Amino acid sequence: MSTKKCPCGKGDMNLTTRMKSACCNGVDVHVESSAYVCPCCGIEVGTVFQASETQKAIAEEYRKKTGLLTGCDIESLRKKRALTRKQLADLMNVCEDSVRKWEEGLVQDFTMDKRLRKILD
Ligand SMILES: [Zn+2]
Repeated sequence: MSTKKCPCGKGDMNLTTRMKSACCNGVDVHVESSAYVCPCCGIEVGTVFQASETQKAIAEEYRKKTGLLTGCDIESLRKKRALTRKQLADLMNVCEDSVRKWEEGLVQDFTMDKRLRKILD
């Protein structure tokens, strides 16, 4: 189990996973979030990696709730069609970077979502 010294000096912080509520574009989402928590003072410290994982989970949950394709959906549908990110980007008329970002956690808008479905469904 991974531990870390707390800034309070009293406790060893343990890597703890718990449910976190967040509001994304007006939609409440609940995701699992990992951070180091001190049993003495309760302070919570997340690493940059953990913070970005949480952001990603929030974006996935938000897309599930609003009926958008999730990053996982986009990636698996793209692979099913045997398309590279570049090929999908060309079909979508966007840059490859946009496709990568959608797959990695950036929320696409509804117009883009419709176009993605047209190409991938
Ligand atoms: Zn502490």
